[in-house]
Amino acid sequence: MNRSEQLESLATDTLWDIIIIGGGATGVGTALDAATRGYKTLLLEGHDFAKGTSSRSTKLVHGGVRYLEQGNIKLVREALRERGYLLKNAPHLTSIQTFIVPVFSWLEKMFYGLGLRFYDLLSGKLSLGNTQILSKKETVAHLPTINAEKLSGGILYFDGQFDDSHLAIEIAATAIQKGATVINYCKAAGFIKTNGKITGVECIDALTEKKYALKTKVVVNATGVFTNAIVQMDDHLQHDLVSPSQGIHLVIDAKFFPGIDAMMIPKTDDGRVLFAVPWHDKVVLGTTDTPIELISFEPKPLEEEIEFIIKHINRYCTVLITRADINSVYVGLRPLVKQKSKGSTALISREHHLSVSSSGLITITGGKWTTYRKMAADAVDNAAFIGKFNKEKCITAHTPIGNEQEKEKRMNEILIKDTTLEELVDPKYTFTKAQIVYAVKYEMAMGIEDILARRIRLLFLDAKLAISVAPMVASIIAPYLQKDKNWEAAELKSFTQLAEQYILQ
Ligand SMILES: Cc1cc2nc3c(=O)[nH]c(=O)nc-3n(C[C@H](O)[C@H](O)[C@H](O)COP(=O)(O)OP(=O)(O)OC[C@H]3O[C@@H](n4cnc5c(N)ncnc54)[C@H](O)[C@@H]3O)c2cc1C
Repeated sequence: MNRSEQLESLATDTLWDIIIIGGGATGVGTALDAATRGYKTLLLEGHDFAKGTSSRSTKLVHGGVRYLEQGNIKLVREALRERGYLLKNAPHLTSIQTFIVPVFSWLEKMFYGLGLRFYDLLSGKLSLGNTQILSKKETVAHLPTINAEKLSGGILYFDGQFDDSHLAIEIAATAIQKGATVINYCKAAGFIKTNGKITGVECIDALTEKKYALKTKVVVNATGVFTNAIVQMDDHLQHDLVSPSQGIHLVIDAKFFPGIDAMMIPKTDDGRVLFAVPWHDKVVLGTTDTPIELISFEPKPLEEEIEFIIKHINRYCTVLITRADINSVYVGLRPLVKQKSKGSTALISREHHLSVSSSGLITITGGKWTTYRKMAADAVDNAAFIGKFNKEKCITAHTPIGNEQEKEKRMNEILIKDTTLEELVDPKYTFTKAQIVYAVKYEMAMGIEDILARRIRLLFLDAKLAISVAPMVASIIAPYLQKDKNWEAAELKSFTQLAEQYILQ
């Protein structure tokens, strides 16, 4: 993945089959799908890949136990199938994760036990393991800090876990290998129309401010919570398609929640589920569901959301956490498909939604990370119909993501040139300096934030530490990006400002 090489394709007079706007899960998935079907594909991401919601998930590859409780079996079955494909196609970025639901009565044991057995049954051949009913003693053995008072036992079930932004970057890299052109920091700024139909996209290279006018047969809008802006760029009279709902996560040290199992609290005070999930040797706690008005790239956690998570986790665990124990707080916005009659966002459908405007703009939104591939397949099916392309079958259910051998080869080359890059970025984490060089050479990282937020995940794991290693990151990447000391200083300033929002005061 080399940005300059990818940009060269924009300078040509190409007629694209599909231009995809947005480089989150949905967009990169659509680029991979379209490229594997042989369509001439371009993806434009206005910021970095997965800058939006796709780096801010709870890190679960799951069917969604909660949707089962709501009776949405179709959605759960589809997501469980997608979970199975993803674990097979990206084994290096996903893993099977055991979850324990603590229960406090015989009735709860039966209810959640039967429900989670059904959840497993729905996954059919793609099951990750049998649901088990645990005694109180077994539950405490799995969750050493669980509050055992009044505990009756637990239900152990299996789901998936992943590194979200890494997966997005590897899907983008795979799309490039299959022939797509994929560019970050290139914002779609307008549509070109002929007789009322979209025939092109105007975009701006955010790093140089150079403008391009691109020709295409079809455009797919995969901009998540930013969907409304693109829909209204097509037709300013269009009503909003998505309503944003905010979810926050708190990241804590594993000493508060030791072990390899995750915990699922099945009913919070507002009727949601809450997770504690081991991730990169830390634990992610989340999430919330708060309807909000303002859509931004860096949404802010609300005080009541922070208190809500701390209160619930402390209710279940004996090693209590306080605000001072939070290493990082990160916030994501759900692009929920707007339904006029529903008041609470917790009830809005998590199914994805596809629409086609009179000018031919295909908008794909809603859904979840786990179902990105199916969303992409639906978007490309529609694009092929609208663009009158040769009908080709979707093959992404069985398309491996990433190329581990190639990665290892390049990593070795980096290390042969400079063995000091074997050093860890910080002794507490396994990330090496070579990974920083790899990200800037082969993963289109263009600055400190791209490295520390989405290539190695230190901003999400430990925001203070991310600030302290930022000068070292800047000095490693500057020569590769041909940048000087002024650039380093400006980068450091803007990264520090951003990272401070991830620290709880
Ligand atoms: C708190 C929370 C927790 C979640 N946890 C999970 C989970 O554990 N498992 C799961 O399966 N799902 C989870 N989800 C859902 C999942 O994260 C989202 O459904 C998914 O990431 C949405 O991806 P997207 O590509 O549609 O949107 P985004 O990731 O937001 O991508 C949209 C992209 O469009 C770009 N863009 C916007 N405007 C332009 C423009 N003009 N030009 C070019 N680019 C533009 C943005 O920069 C952005 O990168 C969670 C969601 C939230 C909010």
